[in-house]
Amino acid sequence: LTEVKNEIGEFCSEFNRSPEEVVLLPVTKQWPVESVRFCKNAGIRSVGENRVQDALAKQVEVTGVDWELIGHLQSNKVNQVIGRFERIQTVDSLKLLDKLQVAAERRELRQKILIQVNSGEDPAKFGLFMDEVDEMLERALGCANLITEGFMTIAPYAPENPSVAQRAFIRLRELRDRLNEDFQVDLGELSMGMSGDIREAIESGSTMVRLGTALFGARKE
Ligand SMILES: *Cc1c(COP(=O)(O)O)cnc(C)c1O
Repeated sequence: LTEVKNEIGEFCSEFNRSPEEVVLLPVTKQWPVESVRFCKNAGIRSVGENRVQDALAKQVEVTGVDWELIGHLQSNKVNQVIGRFERIQTVDSLKLLDKLQVAAERRELRQKILIQVNSGEDPAKFGLFMDEVDEMLERALGCANLITEGFMTIAPYAPENPSVAQRAFIRLRELRDRLNEDFQVDLGELSMGMSGDIREAIESGSTMVRLGTALFGARKE
């Protein structure tokens, strides 16, 4: 954890970013619940999980930490997740958005969300296409029980060519900047960057890097 934090700090100074602008979100998916306890004891506030069932099981065992859902969410699981996650980072369809709004209203709570964008146009990834985001944001801003805080993307996997990830990140940041202008809002959060593309993410304006492998080693999958 110290090494990864130092690395983030180095990239921040290289690109004139303040380290407080870039949150480290440990991704504890597929690791036992001890990984979450470790993070909590190390002073980490939130962890990321990609599967609803796994996350809910861990939540029973560890309290006092916030959970971010970073995996694809099927709309039939909305009632299981609403209010159980600090934030749902993977809102990627109007249908899902509407179901989240209905569920949050019914429970009388406000749920924080990010809109997931496939800014790398990777056919293997979830997320809205760039030209679908305006309509999505307009609808999201009209959802009284949802708090839209920004955007999330997963860059295409191309370890030998970092410019692929960098392009996806820059496209998302530029989209965010334009939407802030057009909608007269101030969406700050850009969840982008994983273990293989931390540097490109920080260079491109990421406010949250989601790190599994860099912290815990390779998953067995
Ligand atoms: C697994 C996962 C991560 C972490 O990936 P690493 O390469 O292990 O750092 C980040 N974001 C999402 C959405 C993931 O599913």
